[in-house]
Amino acid sequence: MGRVEVVSFDMEGTIIDPSFSNLIWETDIPRLYAEQHGVSFEAARDHVLAEYRQVGDERPEWYDVGYWFRRLELSGDWRELLERRRGACKVYPEARGVLERLRGRYLLVLTSNTIKEFLEVQLGGLSGFFAHIFSAPSDFGEVKKSPEFYRRICRIIGAAPEEVAHVGDHLKFDYEAPRQLGIHAYYLDRSGEAEGRHVVRDLVEFERRVELIDGSPQP
Ligand SMILES: [Mg+2]
Repeated sequence: MGRVEVVSFDMEGTIIDPSFSNLIWETDIPRLYAEQHGVSFEAARDHVLAEYRQVGDERPEWYDVGYWFRRLELSGDWRELLERRRGACKVYPEARGVLERLRGRYLLVLTSNTIKEFLEVQLGGLSGFFAHIFSAPSDFGEVKKSPEFYRRICRIIGAAPEEVAHVGDHLKFDYEAPRQLGIHAYYLDRSGEAEGRHVVRDLVEFERRVELIDGSPQP
């Protein structure tokens, strides 16, 4: 077993719960549409969600709030929506403690498929824990975290995949893709339904796995 040098985290669903994004996409944008186009919130929401589906999450525009403002003919600065929801960013209870313990021993990085503008608001006071913050859409123009995304990250931080541990709540993008490359990836399932060697239920369990790979558990 090799020595782990770098610990990588997904963000939404891993460090921060997804309520912030959900509010922006499913409440705030429809509400703005209702106000500016003079329709009911329900009608606006139906319309906006149908538009999202039409574009689909495989296309980069799906992640681009500016694009949606243009497409839905909304006026105003979309960044204000993010600022107004700053208070809705909820950090999972064990996350800060895990980051505090791990940061002295490993290089911590954040690898997310959220756009930079969201990341900045969502991370708030946690950004200082990370030596690097990578956004697949903003930094590499990629829609999802592919094996190539992880390969680029390893190259940038100068680490071999075997020296990296990663955790995230998406089976394909946080587990299968990095595993393909040889990264010690763990699938975070907070519901506790999934089972398997590489499944963890919270970040404390992930922390223990990293120490086991590393062969040097903390006393
Ligand atoms: Mg996630």
